[in-house]
Amino acid sequence: MLYQQERERLAEIVRTMFDRFETNAAGGNVSVRMNDKHIIMTPTLMSQDHLCDISPYQILVVDMDENVIEGDGRLTREINMHMACFKTHKDIGAVIHGHARESMVFATMGMEMPNLTEATQKFGRIPCLDFYPACSPELAEEVKTYVESLGDDVKSKAMLLKQHGVLVLDTTLNRAYDSLERLEYNAYIAYKSMVFDRLGIHNMEVEDYEYNLVE
Ligand SMILES: [Zn+2]
Repeated sequence: MLYQQERERLAEIVRTMFDRFETNAAGGNVSVRMNDKHIIMTPTLMSQDHLCDISPYQILVVDMDENVIEGDGRLTREINMHMACFKTHKDIGAVIHGHARESMVFATMGMEMPNLTEATQKFGRIPCLDFYPACSPELAEEVKTYVESLGDDVKSKAMLLKQHGVLVLDTTLNRAYDSLERLEYNAYIAYKSMVFDRLGIHNMEVEDYEYNLVE
């Protein structure tokens, strides 16, 4: 089996995502670049049919022309967003798309998410991209345009897809998952902070401290 270890790890990550409400039964998909020729990616209906509980062999090995090389399952049409990222910058090694519960509040409102926690400062802005239907070429194009606008600053980036979910980019799968966790915590905190602020309990401060961004 090609890339066995990496496919085992990816299967483990998507199970964890589902258990931690970082995606839901409505969808979500994850891909990882293996080399110049191949990515590995979760299959279509992973969430709907399997609640993200899939075997490593159900993780597909896919070439850069979107042909399935190995694995039991079919490609999701959302691969177009993932390929847009991989083809835009060589440093993007993993792409996570999820319907993450806390972040969905901001995505559904069509709001940029305030970046409040120290752990998320490395993301910079957390924008909400314009709405285009799920799986559409227009949505993939919208993602591509935003990723291009980042230039070489593509590590540890998160964006919201309006009324849909989140997209996280990073160099490796482990780092991308870590970023998704940080994003969700920030969303939880940002939502409460905005409510406290509006209720007059305490002002929400977006301070520009001297953060240590070196890991
Ligand atoms: Zn989706």
